[in-house]
Amino acid sequence: MMLTDKVAVVTGASRGIGRAVALALAAQGADLVVAARSLLPLQELVTEIEALGRKALAVTADAAVTEDAQRLIASAVERFGRVDILINNAGITRDGLLLRMKDEDWDAVLDTNLKGAFLLSRAAAKLMSKQRSGRIINISSVVGMMGNPGQANYSASKAGLIGLTKSIARELARRGVTVNAIAPGFIETDMTRELSEKVRQELTAQIPLGRLGQAEDVAQAVVYLASDHAGYITGQVLGVNGGMYM
Ligand code: NAP
Repeated sequence: MMLTDKVAVVTGASRGIGRAVALALAAQGADLVVAARSLLPLQELVTEIEALGRKALAVTADAAVTEDAQRLIASAVERFGRVDILINNAGITRDGLLLRMKDEDWDAVLDTNLKGAFLLSRAAAKLMSKQRSGRIINISSVVGMMGNPGQANYSASKAGLIGLTKSIARELARRGVTVNAIAPGFIETDMTRELSEKVRQELTAQIPLGRLGQAEDVAQAVVYLASDHAGYITGQVLGVNGGMYM
């Protein structure tokens, strides 16, 4: 067990990568606060985590709303007394070519993917600084480093997360808090399930390991960065992409 009795908050935990991350952290002994906008899948996840012998709390929260971010961290403190690990995973896409991209598509993606991570990191950092320990892990993306046509908003949000990660890693290091980003490649979740077979084949051809990733591939990287084994790693971006970007 790498995370016995640690308390972790995971946003976007209702499905996909966030769900896999929450279960992987619980399997390593952590208690969980799982958040998203929809309650039912979170309640099912809580039951699964409890079956692993850990405690869990479901909180509905919109990561992009300041009050929700503060309430989420406050709920974790009320239930567990501390927050050791924050995983900023909530994310959306609103794809479109630049010339056709609407202001609201830009704002929605930047608000959820980037502002959300800022709001939650700020709320958690206050606590972690007092604790003199903590781990913040931001789920960025390979397209934050490479760009991607049709994803100006999404790739800007994910590149922004890398800047956020490095800046707050420098700010919080003296307080014993590490901050890192994970940049997944193409992972099989609801976000990528709608890709056509043709696009899927083209993508796979660009991946040296010859397959799309699984949520579990990302979850295991999160477990490592959250653990004591990663105590001397901060301000880094860990690619989990099958080698598609080096
Ligand atoms: P997903 O299956 O679409 O899940 C997204 C999660 O985020 C859901 O739990 C969703 O729950 C939650 N969410 C969305 N907007 C939210 C908001 N405003 N506040 C709180 N929760 C919100 O996506 P995924 O593929 O697992 O992606 C997870 C993260 O990995 C995202 O940040 C994504 O950008 C990143 N990523 C994914 C891939 C990939 O290939 N799949 C690659 C690189 C990076 P509700 O709808 O219930 O709120």
